[in-house]
Amino acid sequence: MATIDKVLVVNSGSSSLKYMLFSMKTETMLCKGIVERIGDANANLVYQKAGCEKRSSAVKALNHGQAFEHVCAALVNKDDGVVKSLSEIEAVGHRVLHGGLEFTTPVLVNAAVKKAIRKCFDLGPLHNPANLTGIEACEKKMKGVPNVAVFDTGFHMTMPAESYMYAIPRQLAKKYGLRKYGFHGTSHKYVTETAAKVFKKPLAKLNIITCHLGNGSSLAAIKGGKVFDTTMGLTPLQGLVMGTRSGDIDPAVCFFLAKKEGMDAEALDTLLNKKSGLLSIAGTGTGDMRDLCAAVKAGKADAKEAFDLFVHRTVLYIGGYAALLGKIDGIVFAGGIGENSDDARGAICERLAGLGVKLDKKANKSTHGQLAKISSADSKLPVWVIPTNEELMIARETFRIVTAK
Ligand code: ADP
Repeated sequence: MATIDKVLVVNSGSSSLKYMLFSMKTETMLCKGIVERIGDANANLVYQKAGCEKRSSAVKALNHGQAFEHVCAALVNKDDGVVKSLSEIEAVGHRVLHGGLEFTTPVLVNAAVKKAIRKCFDLGPLHNPANLTGIEACEKKMKGVPNVAVFDTGFHMTMPAESYMYAIPRQLAKKYGLRKYGFHGTSHKYVTETAAKVFKKPLAKLNIITCHLGNGSSLAAIKGGKVFDTTMGLTPLQGLVMGTRSGDIDPAVCFFLAKKEGMDAEALDTLLNKKSGLLSIAGTGTGDMRDLCAAVKAGKADAKEAFDLFVHRTVLYIGGYAALLGKIDGIVFAGGIGENSDDARGAICERLAGLGVKLDKKANKSTHGQLAKISSADSKLPVWVIPTNEELMIARETFRIVTAK
């Protein structure tokens, strides 16, 4: 197949549909936006052409199909649209949360793939149904245009059994696919590929720890350019302390609360996914790192404790991954916190002195959202901020699959 240019990236959530259109000749973003509150009477379309102000308008979007109609209308709008006709869009890449064991790499969507995504509904109950709805909306509106599914779990499928197994009865684990899958794979992959260029090392020889710190946070131990271990598990709940998720806790907390508070599976799910993490302990009323850092600076004791817990857990995993990898080439920060919070990065790096990390405080302080080295010239271990770009990674994967056919 000849080469293609315009690739649309769709990230369909339970009540939202985010999109971004790329020109792959130059890998430039042409426009982006979101339809929010799908299914609600107050649905809203946000559209932003690259280099222009964003605009927002109320729309009728009772389902993802209707939402996608509005996106398409915006893309071809004669005032600030970016294509003359939808036929210019040659492929669509979809973010799909859970690929289970079936998908290790992105795939061209067909009936069997949709069936497999459906099979993973139990593993990603909030996301996978919405992801599939987004795919079906595109299939219907843009007939004949190839759709590619890019799985959040895909990049992590190289983990060995010692990383992904849970020590629970094998028969149960096998019956339900209970194991570590890992998430943010697209981000960890993008950052890893960029790090290979930054560190001037072939990907196959690159050993790094990638820290995707955002509302949801995960680390990955990258060995020879591939994932050796990651902090998220069967679901995105395991691992680091996050905005509203607890991360690691003793599972016995669940049995205890079930007995003492009469909480059922759904209540515990909501508690640990939506009402825990920084939100539950910072005393700021949010799980947002900016609010947390402001409260720490204002001398709030709860906030300081929450910040220290976040840093402690992150350092703990970085140290563990450094030991597992043996020799590492560097540490990389990405995600909203990793790219912007010099306070969080500074506190983490200060506690990594034992690994040979020496922070360049000035560089750290002035780095917000751009590619930069934040360790000092004499640091034994380099530390970099590499802004992630999951949408571009999805567009690249989509381009690769569609042009390889
Ligand atoms: P998501 O996981 O939803 O994609 P993001 O990667 O956007 O989240 O990260 C959101 C987090 O990044 C929030 O905790 C927010 O406070 C933090 N963040 C964003 N900008 C800054 C900033 N300038 N300084 C500190 N933290 C920031």
